[in-house]
Amino acid sequence: MNNNIIIKVKLIILILVLNTNLIISAQEITNPEDTEVWGPTPLLINTPSQSLPSDAIILFNEKSLDNWKKLDGSKALWSVAKDTFTIKPGTGDIITNQEFADVQLHIEWRTPIVENVMGQNRGNSGIFFQQRYELQILDSFKNKTYVNGQAGSIYKQFSPLVNASKKSGIWQTYDIIFIAPTFNIDKSVKTNASMTVFHNGVLIQYNSTLKGSTTYIGLPEYEFHGKDSILLQDHGSKVSFRNIWAREL
Ligand code: MG
Repeated sequence: MNNNIIIKVKLIILILVLNTNLIISAQEITNPEDTEVWGPTPLLINTPSQSLPSDAIILFNEKSLDNWKKLDGSKALWSVAKDTFTIKPGTGDIITNQEFADVQLHIEWRTPIVENVMGQNRGNSGIFFQQRYELQILDSFKNKTYVNGQAGSIYKQFSPLVNASKKSGIWQTYDIIFIAPTFNIDKSVKTNASMTVFHNGVLIQYNSTLKGSTTYIGLPEYEFHGKDSILLQDHGSKVSFRNIWAREL
């Protein structure tokens, strides 16, 4: 064979080898079992309609505030009646006995029917994850205030995507996924906190990444902390709560 023929034969062999490899690669991903993951197996839980997932931590047992306390550790003094409890203004914020990091929280709340009270004083409370990061509770049904302080805002950081508020006197729901911040060994922030929130079933916060603790005055900043309680705010309004449960994530 002359040199040209030898080169052509070598090229043909090379193309065949490359094609064979491509065929093998293609075969590797045509087997459906190659992309099946069989473990670890997600825990099987029960989710009865209109009720609790079977792995939920119940934070209000419909009888007492035994799962809650005041900031100084003494007994929570808010009023309990039937399956609800209501802020007793002036008695202070309450916090869960249990401390949480990443958590899914379901909470139902109702702002009181009041007259001639507007803005931030109309049905104000709030859920502070880890006692620092507030998801605002407010009567925001035709009640003008700054939008990063209305119901469903992450206070002074993120306005809600829409206003899904119902009128005062009607029960409303929040379903929240809170991801706690993490910190480096030197106590500087490693990953920020974030929240995803559904208000009455409607998405109002999607993976909103917090700039730090929510503050009334000044700009948010992170401070080093570990797991911490969920806090409900006494802002002087008789806001009621019921059916509160959490799932650690
Ligand atoms: Mg508030």
